[in-house]
Amino acid sequence: MLKRLWSLYHQWYVNYSSFSSENEKEDLTYFRDKLFISILMLTVVLGLVSYFPSAGMAILLDKWFVFYVDTIAVFVLLILFFNKQMSLKTKKIVFSVNFFALSFALIIDLGFNGNGTILLFLLSVLMTLYSGRKAGIISVLVTTIFYVVILTIYNFKWIDLPFYKISPIEIVLIVCVNNVLFTLLTVFSVSFLIDQLHNALLKESLLQEELIKKHENVIIAKERAEQSDKLKSAFLANMSHEIRTPMYGILGCAELLKSYNSEDEDFKEYVNVIENNGKELLGIITDILSISKIETGLMKVNTSKFDVNESIAAVYKLLLPEAETKKVHFTLNSFISKRDSIIKSDQDKFTAILKHLIENAIKYTSEGDSIVLSCSLDGSSASQLKFYLNDTGIGIPADKVETIFNSFYQVDVANKNTLNGSGVGLSIAKAYVEMLGGDLELESKVGEGTSFWFSIDMDLKTD
Ligand code: ADP
Repeated sequence: MLKRLWSLYHQWYVNYSSFSSENEKEDLTYFRDKLFISILMLTVVLGLVSYFPSAGMAILLDKWFVFYVDTIAVFVLLILFFNKQMSLKTKKIVFSVNFFALSFALIIDLGFNGNGTILLFLLSVLMTLYSGRKAGIISVLVTTIFYVVILTIYNFKWIDLPFYKISPIEIVLIVCVNNVLFTLLTVFSVSFLIDQLHNALLKESLLQEELIKKHENVIIAKERAEQSDKLKSAFLANMSHEIRTPMYGILGCAELLKSYNSEDEDFKEYVNVIENNGKELLGIITDILSISKIETGLMKVNTSKFDVNESIAAVYKLLLPEAETKKVHFTLNSFISKRDSIIKSDQDKFTAILKHLIENAIKYTSEGDSIVLSCSLDGSSASQLKFYLNDTGIGIPADKVETIFNSFYQVDVANKNTLNGSGVGLSIAKAYVEMLGGDLELESKVGEGTSFWFSIDMDLKTD
């Protein structure tokens, strides 16, 4: 509450004194001016509060000199506060002179028992704060001259000042020297502190500038990377598309050649090699095309009604020979009833998911291992089908489980099995599962095997 009031009041005065905070800069002069405004405001408030009791006391004790001096000092403060025309520099000078006059008057009239010496000390500190070290040293000089003058007057008894009677000249001399030295020490300490703070502030603002620049560079680099990533995907999509067309030509001719001369075994083998390698190449190109489309957001979902059991059986039939060749047991357990088997989804994407996952399972298992594919209605959501694919293969290290979904990532590039793939199968499968309304998850233990599971919507809505 008090803090809010103070900041409101301060803001009002800043506006009132037309102190420009618009061109706020990290300049020390700016901070000193701002500080002076705060000091002036506080002095006016506190000065008014202390004026009435001290003026009253001065009248009661018949100290009219103190009363007049106090009154003049408060009056000058009020003029400084309400004067809008006067520059801050002049205000600082008048403020300092006013306090010098008040302190001198109090020392002359009340001696060292009054507030005069404290005021002088405080003024030197304040001047160092709002005008700098030079002003602080000047204030110490003025104080010293003042002490020299009153000591000389004391020594030659030129004027009969009241406090001379109380203290002998030796004590007054020691007090004066001590006062000057302490004030000088404080002025140096305060100015040193301010310099250090200012340097730290400058360093901080430099660092801030550097940080902003670096941040901007990072944003530019990120934008460039994103742009080049998009370009890369677009390039891959284009190239894959261009390569697929002649590949279809080659495969078509291989098909024709098969029926052309069926007697020659060598000829048949050559054609088979062309066909198998051509299909493998086409598969890789199709995967690259798919991942490029996914990454550029061009992949579309085409829904249709189909029998999911039939699609699962077709994939099973297609890949079972491959598993059998490797002597891996591959079992299908479908618990989807005929009633639930007609679903609305993207058939091509659904079969692609199964193919990618099963092909991996076959790839990363060896003789004697087993693969089980189970399909059922999702227990937690009546509108989804759930699929589990468990294998007893080599497994995936726990720290790689997150990264294997990244495009072109392969766990063990030194492994020749891994090199058979292009590292995009799982990224495609995951993206497709998400497009079909589900999520692809896995659990794996190195040496024990891997389980993948995912669900898809039975009635996929597309926008
Ligand atoms: P790849 O073409 O290399 O198989 P994928 O994206 O399909 O690429 O798989 C990424 C990596 O995940 C593979 O290189 C492999 O290390 C690991 N992986 C995928 N499926 C399995 C699995 N069933 N068992 C063990 N590792 C697997």
